[in-house]
Amino acid sequence: MEKKLQLIGVNKFYKLSNKETFHALYDINVDFEKGELVSIVGESGSGKSTLMNLIGGLDSDFSGQIIADGEHLENLADKELDKYRKNKVGFVFQSFNLIPHLSILDNVTLALTLSNVSEKDKVERATKMLKLVGLESQIKKSPNQLSGGQKQRVAIARALINDPEIIIADEPTGALDSDTSMQILDILKDIADRGKLVIMVTHSEKIASISSRVVEISDGKIINDHKNPDYKKKKIKKEETFEKPKQEIITDNKSKKKRNFKDRQNLSLVSAIRLSLHNMWASRMKNFLMAFGVAIGIGSLILMLCFSSGITDFINDTMKSYSDPTIVTVSLKSKDAVEGDMGNMFSSFSFNQYEKEDIVELKNKMNKFLELENMDYRVTDDKITYGMQLMTLDMQGALPGSNLIYINDGHQDDMYGKELFMQEIKNEETGEIKKVNPLEEYKKNGWIEYEKVYCLYTTPPYYSDTNIIAGEMSTDKGGIMLTQGIKNMFPDIDLEQIIGKEVTVTLNLPTSVTHGAPVQIKIKDKITGIMDTSLMSGWMVCYINYDYLGTILNGSEFNDGVMKASDFYKPTHLYIKTDSEETTAKINKWLETQDRYSGSIEDQFANMFENMTSVIGPSLIVISCISLIVSAMMILVVLYMSVSERTKEIGVLKSIGARRKDIRRIFTSESFLIGLLSGIFGIVFNLILTLIIMLVLTNTIGMCPITYRWWYFFLAVGISIIISMLAGLYPANKASKLDPVESLRRE
Ligand code: ADP
Ligand code: MG
Repeated sequence: MEKKLQLIGVNKFYKLSNKETFHALYDINVDFEKGELVSIVGESGSGKSTLMNLIGGLDSDFSGQIIADGEHLENLADKELDKYRKNKVGFVFQSFNLIPHLSILDNVTLALTLSNVSEKDKVERATKMLKLVGLESQIKKSPNQLSGGQKQRVAIARALINDPEIIIADEPTGALDSDTSMQILDILKDIADRGKLVIMVTHSEKIASISSRVVEISDGKIINDHKNPDYKKKKIKKEETFEKPKQEIITDNKSKKKRNFKDRQNLSLVSAIRLSLHNMWASRMKNFLMAFGVAIGIGSLILMLCFSSGITDFINDTMKSYSDPTIVTVSLKSKDAVEGDMGNMFSSFSFNQYEKEDIVELKNKMNKFLELENMDYRVTDDKITYGMQLMTLDMQGALPGSNLIYINDGHQDDMYGKELFMQEIKNEETGEIKKVNPLEEYKKNGWIEYEKVYCLYTTPPYYSDTNIIAGEMSTDKGGIMLTQGIKNMFPDIDLEQIIGKEVTVTLNLPTSVTHGAPVQIKIKDKITGIMDTSLMSGWMVCYINYDYLGTILNGSEFNDGVMKASDFYKPTHLYIKTDSEETTAKINKWLETQDRYSGSIEDQFANMFENMTSVIGPSLIVISCISLIVSAMMILVVLYMSVSERTKEIGVLKSIGARRKDIRRIFTSESFLIGLLSGIFGIVFNLILTLIIMLVLTNTIGMCPITYRWWYFFLAVGISIIISMLAGLYPANKASKLDPVESLRRE
């Protein structure tokens, strides 16, 4: 008879501590042959399972020799042992050890999956095996829908799937009633009779008496070994013997040594992902909650990105695009301006007026800079246009612009709003002054003449016809232009209707300009057009040509001659025409470094936004990073817990030949899938969040600086996958290193 399994002088020591060991098997010498149905009997703790684990290649820490199907187990490296388990032995356990989240079919084909056998071959072979154990009708069920006996049949089919030469069954009937036990025994006998070596541990004397050979172990020694003379082998027809599964037998050419067992391919990525999907589905609530947690972090990260690009776009599209790129605006900071002071920051609102010597100084400084920079361009008088920006509201002590912004809010129904918009209208005939609300007057009469404006600006040369949304530009021949801010006062207004109306602009000059004296100028003229002027559009601004303003004021005296027009008809802004965008950019950069000069209001706002984003940006990134780290920790904890929950499953996988790499791959694909899922959730979460924010922002401040770039989504999914896989590294590694014997012993 062919010797299938041979143990020569096998000793097993369990290490208890550094000094102590436990001698579990003493000098075991035994041979087993093909076709034997061996019962290993002995008291609990005698070493039966220890012996099974050695034979099955789950435990390679022994002395002596074990020769199984021509393979010397004591010489095999870990990887070769994996292959041995995959192809040479089949395990059947007392507690069945089916993987609960896989179907019967998937449980049976697991070893084939680890070998990357085609789906068709897998199903074909599994069906054959399930038929052999009498379960072909249960193929679609899940393990917990089966009885104990049925589960053990599935386990036997699983053990047989790779056509191993040796079947090891450690108390296969231990959890079954006696009738079912006999059925299982019949199946095992059938397998042995077909030419396999079946070794089983049993406590049942009945079962032992039916098997072909009984080996008794006591305290780690074989004390009895006898063959059963009454054992009757079933006659097996030729076609009933096992056929080898397809797709196999690759000889190890490298070593020239013919390996006796099949050296097949490994667990494919697709199979690993499929296995992980099954497992994830089994604990879907946990995974869903975790993915949702990560999604919050990822979604917020996209939101930050969208905000920062939204603000950049807002600056570029909305603010900068309104100005002629070859015009530099220079306003004047006050001489005693303090760095960081609001009035200094927004010097466009500080209405400091250029004296002649200021202009000369600016020209010189700028030209000196241009010379140092080796630029050809020089500032000359003909390239400078004067401009003036004045506000009717006395800004002394008030936050510049605050009232203006309030107007922009359009709170006409608000108490304060009403008060602010109240116009004092003087009846010329009776001299009676009455307060009217322009909005109500407008609703009643269709149009009212209003007197009070809040800003008077001269038209800068970079405003062109493209800024006009109704009517036309005012010129040095006259005309007043309004901005879209008029809409805030008169929401239902038809802008075309205003063109040609006469308006009286009453301008209380800022006290900073008049050196404290109350000076009021009135300009009565026709409205020529409505402008869309980016930043100022929402505000109530009157635009007038600087030269025309000069013509009107020419020779005027105020406050009984205390003040002449020439005392305050001085530019607050200079507009310098450059030769190129490069020159403009250069000069603008230079202006940022200047104590006395600053750029246009658009530039200043752009700078402010850029400063804000440069301060807020990194802190948002830090917050996102923290949330991502939290997410990673969460994934780590969940996967780590999953490893301990699935210890037994990992043991089973190892017993059927899964390599460390395969186990790692299963867990890595799980973390990949979690990352992918979280990334997708993150995008959905982000879209919902963005929608809400967009609705809120557009309804409150009337704009929404959020811009999506298509690659943010890929970035989000990418980051999510990366953190998830990084977090999964440790658990996956831990899982792959679990000791199979210990994992299987775990309850
Ligand atoms: P059986 O399967 O016959 O009940 P085992 O083979 O499981 O017995 O155990 C044999 C002996 O080895 C027992 O005394 C047991 O306590 C001991 N043993 C088993 N596993 C270990 C281990 N990992 N470390 C230390 N001792 C062990
Ligand atoms: Mg045992």
